[in-house]
Amino acid sequence: MTDPLQRFRDAAAVRGFNGVTRALRPRQAAGDGLIDFASNDYLGLSKDPRVLSAAAAATLVWGAGSTGSRLVTGSTTLHADLEKELASFLHAPASLVFSSGYLANLGVLGALGGPDVLIVSDEGNHASIIDACRLSRSRVAVYAHRDLAAAERALALRDEPHAILVTDAVFSVDGDLAPVKELYAMTRRYGALLAVDEAHSLGVVGEGGRGAVHAAGLSGQPDVIRTVTLSKALGSQGGAVIADPQVIATLVDTARPFIFDTGLAPAATAAALTALRVLAASPDLAVQARARAAELAWLARQAGLTVNRPDAAVLSVTLGDPHSALSAQQVAAGAGIRVGCFRPPSVPENRSCLRLTARADLTEGQLSMAARAFHAVARSRGYSLPALPPSAAR
Ligand code: PMP
Repeated sequence: MTDPLQRFRDAAAVRGFNGVTRALRPRQAAGDGLIDFASNDYLGLSKDPRVLSAAAAATLVWGAGSTGSRLVTGSTTLHADLEKELASFLHAPASLVFSSGYLANLGVLGALGGPDVLIVSDEGNHASIIDACRLSRSRVAVYAHRDLAAAERALALRDEPHAILVTDAVFSVDGDLAPVKELYAMTRRYGALLAVDEAHSLGVVGEGGRGAVHAAGLSGQPDVIRTVTLSKALGSQGGAVIADPQVIATLVDTARPFIFDTGLAPAATAAALTALRVLAASPDLAVQARARAAELAWLARQAGLTVNRPDAAVLSVTLGDPHSALSAQQVAAGAGIRVGCFRPPSVPENRSCLRLTARADLTEGQLSMAARAFHAVARSRGYSLPALPPSAAR
C-alpha cells in the first residue's frame, strides 16, 4: 500500500529545494523589537484607540460573532451604517459588506460572470481576482501588465455578448497604479463593465484617500464596480463592494460568498466604521502615507537597491531568486526592521523581492532604521556602498 501522504512530502522537498517553503511566525503581543515595514496598516489605524474602543463596545453590545449569514441573522445596524458611510465617502450610491476582500472579489466575478461574459484581467492582478475568474465560469483573457492595446484586443475580438475588465487599482507587489481612466474609456467603447480592486488604494491614493476610481473622476459611474478591503488602510478586517444599486441587488440575490458566509463580526464592522470616520476627518493621512513611501523608496535607491517608484504605499525591492530574497529579509531583520518576502507563486519566477509598506505614522527614527537596513542588505549582496544619507547616519 502506498502512503497517501508521501506525495505531499515529495512536493514539500521540491519546494524546500526551490526556496519557496513558507513558515508561520506568530507575532508576540509585546512585539519582537522589529519595526514594522511589512503590514498593510497604511494609516496606523489598527491600534488607534478610537478604533479599538469601537470594536470593544460593539462586541459587548452585539456579541463576539455575527451569528449567521448576512441574509439570516448576520446583518446588524453597524453593517448598514458602514455600507451607507462607505458609499458616501466614495461618492457612490451603494455598497455591500463582505467578510473579506477576497470574498468580495469572488462574489463580484462569481455573480456577474458566466459563460456569456468574457473577463479581461491584468496578469498582475491579486490571487483573489485570479481565483474569482476561475469561479466565474467565464472565459478569461489575461493581458500583459498594464498593456492597454492587449486588453483592447481581447475586448474587440470577443464572441461573448458581455464583458468585464478587472484590475487592481494599485498592484499589490509592484505598487504601481493601473491606468484606470484609460481602461474606463476602453470599457465604455466596448460596452463592458470595469471592476477595480481598491485594496491598496483606499486610504492612500487620491484626494482624502478615496482611491483610484475617484481620482480618475469615475465615482458613481454605474458601469464601474469597486471592491475594497477593510483590512489594510482601515486597520480592521472584511471587504466591501461599491457599485450601482442594481449591481448590489444582484450580489445580494446571487453572490454565493455573500449568501453562504457568516456576516462580518461586529467588532470588525465597528472598527472599520470608526477607522473610516477617522479617515474622512483626516484627509492628510493619505498624503502622509504617500510621502513616507516616497522617502522610503529614495532611501532604498540611495543604498543601491532596485526599487519601484511607489504610486501608493507599496514598495518592492527586486532581488531575483527566492533564496536571495529570504536571506535579504533576514539581514533586514538583523538590522531591526520587519519586511515581507515575496516568492513564487506570489510573484513570477526570478522576480522574488522584499515587499515593504510605508505607514502614515512612520517617524524619522524609523526611516533611519530602514536606511541602515537597506545598507545592510546592499552590503550582504556585495554592492559597493554609498555613504548613509545624513539623516540615517545620525
Ligand atoms: N485584493 C488585493 C489586491 C489584496 O492585496 C488583498 C489582500 N492581500 C485582497 C484583495 C484580499 O483582501 P482581504 O485580505 O480582506 O481578504
